[in-house]
Formats: sequence, C-alpha cells, structure tokens
Amino acid sequence: MNKMDLRKKVMYTISTGLLAGTLSLAPMGASSVAEAGGWDIVGSILGTVSQATAESEAVRYEILRWSNSPKNQQSTLDSSISKNGIDTDVEHNERVSRVLNQLIDRGNYAMEPNSLPFRWRVINSDEWNAGCYPTDYIEVNSALVKDLTSDDALAGVLAHEMIHGLHQHMANDAAQQVLYQYGAGLLTMNADYIQATLSNYLTNYVTIKNTSNISEADADESGFYLLASAGFNPGGFPIETCRMAQMDKSNRGILTEIFTGVYDHPASQKRFNQAEQRMEEYGYNHVKVKNGNEVYIDGQYLMTATEGNGLEDWENAYLIAGGISKGIHDYHSAYAWNFGSKDFLNDRAYDTLRDALSNAELAAKFQTMLENAYSLDVTDKEHRNTKVKLKQAEKERNDKIAAHKAEVMAPENAGAYRAHCDSYLDMELNKLAFKEAEKALTADPNSYIQNGNMARAYSALNDDYKEKHDSFNDEYSRKAIEFNEKALNIANSNSINDTYWLYTNMALYQQQAGNYTLSNEAALTAIAMQPDKEKNYRRIGYNSLKLGDREGAIKYYKMCLAHGGNLSSVPEEIVAEVQANSTTIDDIISDNE
Ligand SMILES: [Zn+2]
Repeated sequence: MNKMDLRKKVMYTISTGLLAGTLSLAPMGASSVAEAGGWDIVGSILGTVSQATAESEAVRYEILRWSNSPKNQQSTLDSSISKNGIDTDVEHNERVSRVLNQLIDRGNYAMEPNSLPFRWRVINSDEWNAGCYPTDYIEVNSALVKDLTSDDALAGVLAHEMIHGLHQHMANDAAQQVLYQYGAGLLTMNADYIQATLSNYLTNYVTIKNTSNISEADADESGFYLLASAGFNPGGFPIETCRMAQMDKSNRGILTEIFTGVYDHPASQKRFNQAEQRMEEYGYNHVKVKNGNEVYIDGQYLMTATEGNGLEDWENAYLIAGGISKGIHDYHSAYAWNFGSKDFLNDRAYDTLRDALSNAELAAKFQTMLENAYSLDVTDKEHRNTKVKLKQAEKERNDKIAAHKAEVMAPENAGAYRAHCDSYLDMELNKLAFKEAEKALTADPNSYIQNGNMARAYSALNDDYKEKHDSFNDEYSRKAIEFNEKALNIANSNSINDTYWLYTNMALYQQQAGNYTLSNEAALTAIAMQPDKEKNYRRIGYNSLKLGDREGAIKYYKMCLAHGGNLSSVPEEIVAEVQANSTTIDDIISDNE
C-alpha cells in the first residue's frame, strides 16, 4: 500500500466521522479481533508476518499521527456539528461540561503524549448514543443527555468514551483488524484471497467495526474506575448500562428481564451485570440491589427505593447502593461516616443516600448494619479475604496508572505538549493551549523554552480576559511576568545559541500579547547575539509600524531584506520605500557596534 493512499484514506475516514468509539449499542458481532489470536503462528509458517505487522503498524501510526493534530480535532468537531447541528439547550450543555470536567480534573488516568485534550459538543440527535473520535473529540447526543437525568449515569457514559480516547482504541483496533484480515486470508492458504483481502482492507475501511469487543469491555471496566476515582457515585454505571440495555428494545418494558438476568440481549445483559458487580466490589461486597429497587446490606433488607428527584425507583436504588459502596470504600470505619454531624454524607455523590436516610428510624437501622459490615471485614474470614483481594487489585490498578503517568510526563515528552500548545494558540483556543503548556512545563520544569511557552500561554489568556473584561487579569499578568523571569534566569545559565532562541521566542510572545515595545527589546537582544538572522529584524519592522514608527519600520524591513528576508513579508504601505535603498551589511554592523 502506497503511503500517500493510506494517509488519504485515514484522513477521509476520520474527518467524515466514520471512525469513532461509541457505546456500541449494536449487537456484538462474531468477528471479534480476539479470534485473530492464533494468526501469528499461521503467518510465520507462510513467512508474511513482517509484512502484515508493518501494514498493521502503518495503519496505527497514520491514525495516531492524523489524530494528534488540534486542527484535525477541529475538523472532526466541525463535521460532527454539520450533520445534525448543535443542541442549544443550556442545561444539557452545562451538565455535560460539569460532568466531563469533573472526570478530567479529578479522575485517575494517564494520557498519551500523542493524544489531545478532550473537547466535546452536545449534538441534536434523537439517537441514544455518544462517541469519541480518535482526535479525542467527544460527541454527545441530546437524546442521551435528556434521558440520563442522573449526573452519575451521564458520567458513566462519558467515562466510557474517555477510555476509548485515552487507550487509543480506534487506532489499535484498526491495526488489529489488519492482522485479522491477513489471518483470515492466510487460514484459507489461498494467495489470491490474501491479496484481495489486503487491497480491500483499506478500501472498505469505512465498513469495519470501529472498536472491538475487547475495547468495549475495556471502556466499561476502566471507565467504571475512572468514574469512581473522580468522585462520582459508582451506582451511575449500572444505571447507565441498564438504560442502554433498555434502548435495545425501546418498545418493551424489559426492566424485569434485566434485573432477573434473563434479558435476551446477552451482550447488554452482561454489561449491566458486570457494572453491578463492580459497584458491589467497590464497597467490598456488602451492598446489593435486589428485585430492581430493594437495597440489602450483607443479605439483610435495608429499604425499598421509591421514585423521586426525576428518577425512577430502580435508579434511586442504585444511587443509594452506590452511595453505600462509595462510603464503605472511602471511610475506614463506621465512625468515620460522622453520623449525626453536618459532615455526614456531605458530598453530591451521596445526595440520594442522605435523602433516603432522613428518616431517623431507618438511619439508626442503617448505622447498626454498617457497623456490622465493618466488623465482618475483621472477624469473618471470607469477608476479610475478599477485602484483601479487592484492595490488592485496586492497588495494582493504581500503581499501573501512576507508573504510566510518570512515563507520559517524562521530560522528553515536553515537546509534544508544546506542539499542541502552539497549535491551540494559533487557533486562539487559549485555555486548551494553556493546559498543554502546563503539561510541557510539568514534564520539563527547568527548560527555558517551556517557561517561555508558559509565559506565552499566560499572555494569550490575558488577551482573552482583556477582550472580555476590558482590563488585564492581575493573576495572569503576574504569572506571565513570573514565567518570563524564570525563563530568562534559565537562559542566563545557558549557551548563546539557547539564549538567542529564548529572546527570539520572547519577542514573539510579547508581540502576540500586543506588547510591541517589549517585543522590540527582546528582538534587539536576539539580534545582538545572532545578527545574521532576518527574523528579528522583520519582527521589529512589524512592531514599529504598530507603534506608529514608520521610519523605524522601513529601516528594519530593509535590514530584514539585507539578511535574506522575503519582500512579500513587507507590508504593502511601505514596500516602495523599503525597496528604494537597500541597507548594506556595513549599515547593519555599524548599527550593532
Ligand atoms: Zn464504546
């Protein structure tokens, strides 16, 4: 496959929105990529392993490369909006923003350096679904937001989608599909078929399943822990998977079937059961929902949930049970729950549980059951072993994420975050630019480039505030100055070449922030270090014109041309004068000595 063709195909596929990890509502097909597992043995016999691997890796590489561009992210966002239009309901947008930001800010996860920060839109669509593009643009349909009235259930969907992006499922699955296609062909041992499969794969790219069953399972599992780590009620996940299962057959009341485990859509039934089990395990297997709306602790009946707060009885049951699970997970003893104090269940995730316990008699009963649950973890061997096992599994998960976080924030990745920052600044998406500059600086805190970059991001944010509020934001101004100084200090202990780069960058940042005099000062310092580069002369010419210094502008544009600058960079209003008498090298030298 010609590299260019592949590139075009990938671009087309992503930009038209044909490749996105969704909730995968459709019945899961038989062609799981897991079945490609034995293919490497077959392949090695036929001696085409390296070809298949190269092809597969090329597909993965192209999708990741294309997706790692803020401009392409914008194009996936634009094309998604152009299909159905945007949902202008303020409440829908506020909810998605609030829930997604909590997942992003408080959740425990690592993001690959070649992945972009998440962006999202709520789209006008009656289809109950959401999707994450390989560019980390998350499309949420209005029907889904409207239907999932619980924030915790909405968090379940958004956490699932975030995992598709964080784990780069689309690129990995497409690559796996290539291997699978090879494998299927090889099994027939028919050379023509192998050829046909190869050439057809990318031609029919659009028809393949976007994510594999393995990725869907991963998005559910990792999504659950992401949701819980971000402080949401773990009952949100069973609610979301149950609503999704209901959507498979919207005409029928299938709740009873789901809760009794006999729903004739096995994939949906399984996803719900797994979510329910994870919620129970999060609280070390003490709490359980039975018959859809009854809550039990250690096999003892606690209460029956009723409808309320815009939620059905069974939804409230899962939020009550999820709240208990979260509490048992987060508090090391019944005492730590602070019964009777104003701090009791003082977190949004516990709202439904706290409301349910407003009945004093029930609250007393609950407290006794809870104390019993904690003591079982000590006295009962089975409970003790379960808790040790679950805590160990959690530790392993968290250690793995921590190690990965350290890896992605290694100094060598600072450049990747800086590149994102540059693109977002060009697009005037200054908050996203700032976040990426922050990551670059965290990865490489002693680099003058990263410090300078941070200064630039702060300046850009300041410009935003300036435009909106007609005054500089003090905090950002202070920080911009602080980071400028840091960058200068680091540069002072570096080589002339490095310092030249710093001042050149400073000149650019100050120019972008509209500080033309400061930009000129930095540019002159850079010229003193490397007088043969045209760039800084051009910058001073431009700034001078902005400052109303026409003569200065003409002078520096002349010097720019004398150092190999291009006439097309000279503004039309002074081009004749700049061209008239070209500056000589002697002029330039005398200007610097
Ligand atoms: Zn999915």
